[in-house]
Amino acid sequence: TVRPLLARLAGDEFTLFFPDVGSAAEAERLARRLVLAIGEPFELHGHSVDIGASVGVAMSPAHGRSVEELMKAADIAMYRAKGRGGHQHCLFNDAIAEEHRHRLETEKALVDAVQRGEFVLALQPQLSLGSGAVTGAEALLRWNHPTRGLVRPAEFIAIAEQTGVINDIGDWVMAEVVAMLASWEETGEGLDRVAFNISPRQIERADFFPRLRQIFANAGVGLDRVELEFTETAAMECSAAVLAEIAEVRREGARIAIDDFGTGYSNIARLRKLPIDRVKLDQSLIHDIVSSEQARNVVQAVIQLVRGVDCELVAEAVETVAQADILRAMGCETIQGFVFAEPMMESEFLDWTRHASSEGRSAA
Ligand code: C2E
Ligand code: MG
Ligand code: MG
Repeated sequence: TVRPLLARLAGDEFTLFFPDVGSAAEAERLARRLVLAIGEPFELHGHSVDIGASVGVAMSPAHGRSVEELMKAADIAMYRAKGRGGHQHCLFNDAIAEEHRHRLETEKALVDAVQRGEFVLALQPQLSLGSGAVTGAEALLRWNHPTRGLVRPAEFIAIAEQTGVINDIGDWVMAEVVAMLASWEETGEGLDRVAFNISPRQIERADFFPRLRQIFANAGVGLDRVELEFTETAAMECSAAVLAEIAEVRREGARIAIDDFGTGYSNIARLRKLPIDRVKLDQSLIHDIVSSEQARNVVQAVIQLVRGVDCELVAEAVETVAQADILRAMGCETIQGFVFAEPMMESEFLDWTRHASSEGRSAA
């Protein structure tokens, strides 16, 4: 009989080869025992050490006939197990193969898309509930795909973030916003300030803030013409150095917003110390404020919290007049949502703002 083979490939990656496992179920049982055994604490020079493992399982011939194919399938499954939090195994299957293929394709298409200039920005106005005036707009990324048409970020941002191509996309967004603001300055159109989204991956880079300044300075556009939206989790988890950078661009005029508030992990003590101006309440929090008293109570509490740290509140994805009325009564300053405007392409947006200012349009 051929004995099992254990090999160390590189770093912390090992391969186990079992020549005569009868079924996928048996392979999974083995993988499970392995994960449990490795998960046991052990003694090392008098210290108790905890390690964990993520195991990917691939079977031959179903998942590969050559060693290379088999190891590749196991590798993909292992990353899946890791992505789910580790300390577990994952058996390769067709769905995983398909998803992997889709990811690789999207990855490549995104790199091409940056080069071919296939991205566009849509603008969605923000409305002051007090005055009924349009007081800002958020730039939202769209991928103008040659065959699929306009693709929304939900379908590609996560992949772009995993592969790092988000940095190139983010650079494009920034340059595009600056160019737009510069052209508005010439024609006297548009708004004073535009918000755009920044990925947590972007702010990890040491050169992000210097480049931001540079791009604005080169175009002669002041930082007081933008609002930078960081996600709640990014704002809570970023390093002290990044926080100092954020505080610095804020002093230079940029407005700082926390996006999707209520979906990440908020450290309330830290919230007070963050250099922020606005908090954007996530759509999941306001979705059922009309029908649910509990939902209203939660939103009211969050509004008080945000007030307590001297920030302005923006409610996202407001879809009905009833929602807008409740938010106004609760003291929310600004809303953004389909109730009064969807994201629009720039020329449409400019038409819309002309109209809005001549009609004194309001949400409710
Ligand atoms: P977000 O920043 O929270 O943007 C708000 C999202 O809510 C947008 O989705 C917008 O179209 C949508 N929305 C606005 N009003 C309504 C409404 O009344 N009802 C509903 N159901 N939805 C509404 P979108 O454009 O698909 O963007 C999704 C997310 O993708 C954004 O969420 C943001 O996190 C990310 N994103 C968008 N553009 C960029 C970008 O340039 N860079 C990065 N890193 N992320 C971006
Ligand atoms: Mg946003
Ligand atoms: Mg949001």
